[in-house]
Amino acid sequence: MIYDNLAVNEKGHLTFAGYDTVELAEKYGTPLYLMDEDKIRQRVREYKKAMSDFMPQGSVPEFASKAFSCRQIYRIMAEEGIDIDIVSVGELYTAVTAGFPMERAFFHGNNKTDSDIEFAIENGVGYFVVDNEDELYAVDRCASKRGVVQKILLRVTPGIDPHTHKKISTGSVESKFGIAIGTGQAEETVLKALDLENIELCGYHCHIGSQIFDAEPFHTASEIMLKFIADIKDKYGYSPDMLNLGGGLGVRYVESEPEIDYYGELRKIAETIKKQCAQLQLDMPKILTEPGRSLVGDSGITLYTVGSVKEIKGYKNYVSVDGGMTDNPRYTLYESPYTVILASRPEDKKDFTATVAGRCCESGDLIQEDVAMPRPERGEILAVLTTGAYNYSMASNYNRIPRPPVVMLNSERDYIAVKRETLEDICRLDV
Ligand SMILES: *Cc1c(COP(=O)(O)O)cnc(C)c1O
Repeated sequence: MIYDNLAVNEKGHLTFAGYDTVELAEKYGTPLYLMDEDKIRQRVREYKKAMSDFMPQGSVPEFASKAFSCRQIYRIMAEEGIDIDIVSVGELYTAVTAGFPMERAFFHGNNKTDSDIEFAIENGVGYFVVDNEDELYAVDRCASKRGVVQKILLRVTPGIDPHTHKKISTGSVESKFGIAIGTGQAEETVLKALDLENIELCGYHCHIGSQIFDAEPFHTASEIMLKFIADIKDKYGYSPDMLNLGGGLGVRYVESEPEIDYYGELRKIAETIKKQCAQLQLDMPKILTEPGRSLVGDSGITLYTVGSVKEIKGYKNYVSVDGGMTDNPRYTLYESPYTVILASRPEDKKDFTATVAGRCCESGDLIQEDVAMPRPERGEILAVLTTGAYNYSMASNYNRIPRPPVVMLNSERDYIAVKRETLEDICRLDV
């Protein structure tokens, strides 16, 4: 199968991380998010090892926690000894209350409010990734009020297009994120930052997009970033301690996509940076990366119970499940590909083609179209793979549908990391 943590057991059921998915569906109910904790840790270690093997000391991955944010994942990342990215006070609060060491947190976002900034400084966030000039001054004011010097990175846009989906491409000059190098504004902002008393500029940041399969766009990004570093150094003598190249390495959602060797790709990125630094006569800065999807995406699956199966004669078939865009909005948003497996009978002949639909009152509420599978029966379990990133974190209560729980699986036990929302939870804030 597409991942080596999937198999079929003697009952003919799909197993995930060694657990019978049909039994887990019975135990915890559906829809159900499952995460393979051992695989997450293994991937984190692969990133960490590549970065310590090939990059200067102190180069580490930061988990871009918008991909999957809950207390337990912050505990796991703390145990694994990597940094985190947060993009809101909600993520910040979750990490703080999970006991994450906040000096290892990077605070992102293109519009941090004054109260966000205050809250983050109060909670000892290590670094702000400052997105624009307004924010630079706001952070300085707030730091000054509290009598601290705040470390920051400056987010710049290198002006490249990594050929991914428009909505997940973020490195072009006209992006809402960051300060453009090409217009000269990034340089101006560096000078302003260096002048501010309550700001310590530690480095530059760029993030070019997501679901990128080849190292090529990163080579272009590092080239532009290092050129920028060299220019500033030549002109003003300032050279930063850190260069953050963002996240974006993809994961394999369907068999037609390539398998990615993360260790190998990071090695290529590091070797290119080394060469580029040598050409520019720069010492290689500490490198940071911000993987989100590639740390957790292919460690998650979602289980659903099949409801109505509708055959529209001469047209198409629908298999409706007890979840949908509320737990996985990615097909609705981006027409993202997913692998769908009938977990109850994965080895039966796939002689039925159907669109897998959610249960929201929205005809765009689909999980995938034209899926080949055995004709399912009402009550059987359907698995959608690769839902570890941007599923739970993007889930909503549209149609007042409660969000599914997240169950973690490791070699010793299965346990609830996030509980299932109840109907009382749905009305909790209503007066
Ligand atoms: C979304 C995002 C990431 C993570 O991207 P992935 O594709 O999930 O690795 C990293 N950095 C920033 C600034 C982001 O916006």
